[in-house]
Amino acid sequence: MPGVHAILSASAAHRWLNCNQSALFEKQYEEQGSEYAAEGTFAHEVAEIKLGRALSDAGYWKERPSRRLNKNNEFWSVALEDYIDGYVAEVMEYIASLKEPLVMLEQRLDFSKYVPGGFGTGDVVIVSDGALDVIDLKYGKGVPVSAERNPQLMLYGLGALETYDCLYDIETVRLHIKQPRLDDASSYQISAAELIDWAENEVAPKAELAMKGEGSFEAGEWCRFCKARKDCRARAKANLELTKYEFAPGPQLTDDEIGDILGKASELKRWVEDIEAFALEQAEKNGKKWPGWKLVEGRSNRRYSDEDKIAEILLGENYREEDIFNKKLKGIGDMERLLGKKKFCELLAEQITKPQGKPTLVPENDKRPELGSIASAEKDFKEDK
Ligand code: SF4
Repeated sequence: MPGVHAILSASAAHRWLNCNQSALFEKQYEEQGSEYAAEGTFAHEVAEIKLGRALSDAGYWKERPSRRLNKNNEFWSVALEDYIDGYVAEVMEYIASLKEPLVMLEQRLDFSKYVPGGFGTGDVVIVSDGALDVIDLKYGKGVPVSAERNPQLMLYGLGALETYDCLYDIETVRLHIKQPRLDDASSYQISAAELIDWAENEVAPKAELAMKGEGSFEAGEWCRFCKARKDCRARAKANLELTKYEFAPGPQLTDDEIGDILGKASELKRWVEDIEAFALEQAEKNGKKWPGWKLVEGRSNRRYSDEDKIAEILLGENYREEDIFNKKLKGIGDMERLLGKKKFCELLAEQITKPQGKPTLVPENDKRPELGSIASAEKDFKEDK
């Protein structure tokens, strides 16, 4: 079935498993290749080369890969190499903890037994002692992604199981996500039997519905990366439903009501922002007129057109350098990029302080410890050391 794999991709599995109709519905929207995706592809290439070398240096691989790092690539930077070096070190440390590991990189993982045309690529696949590990590198610096029951990783696990179970009798599948730019990593373990049960009883039936354009339109946090998110009626309906709040009697909101509204607000906000961005883009690019709205020039601040020229004029008028210049060091991010992560830590670690973040309300399942809790005190103690 040519092209089928693109319809039910592993990366969109969270979406089509929850909103079955999204798979076909999304197809009418333009595919937008992004710079971030291209940067991610390059980071994966670098990771594969570096891991291959590390595996051969450590004796896990007989042959050292001959592929060379392309430092002329537009995305190459010292910082990128530093992040990947950190990732490689973590993966190698993990491999060293396993018994007689068999390590494969960039493996095609075919899970088409459950999802028509379904396959993906496992960045690192390890077989050892009745267990299978799949490690997924996510180079983006958007949001931390948890490996806990992550459908994309579970599908990769299924693909790996399909290939290696008959040879190695796998009982346990461990799934890992590494996000070096967010300094985040998470792992999830599931038995092979449970994974297959999920595939047979949940994935396969929903994949069948999704392929036929049947099943439900269901809005939720998975709408975030859906191509239809800007003008999907089901999402709009679900968000407007959120605003039809059933208030308890009395002049003041109750604590439960405020807690509930906070939970709904973030999805509502995101939806409104998506609509605003879509409407603006259409008006700007395609001259679209929205009833009751017009495109105007936004407010802007004055700025110098040529700073050197300004300095020349003022110095020529005998204004003093110290009066007209504000000398400022580059920001931490720029400096880290300039020096590279290692050098930055070596030279400046002791000069960097991290002020306490502004208190923020987040849902209870957020990983950060609650302010004033023992876990929060422990975190402060570790950071102070
Ligand atoms: S925006 Fe949400 S509800 Fe609409 S198709 Fe996409 S995932 Fe489904």
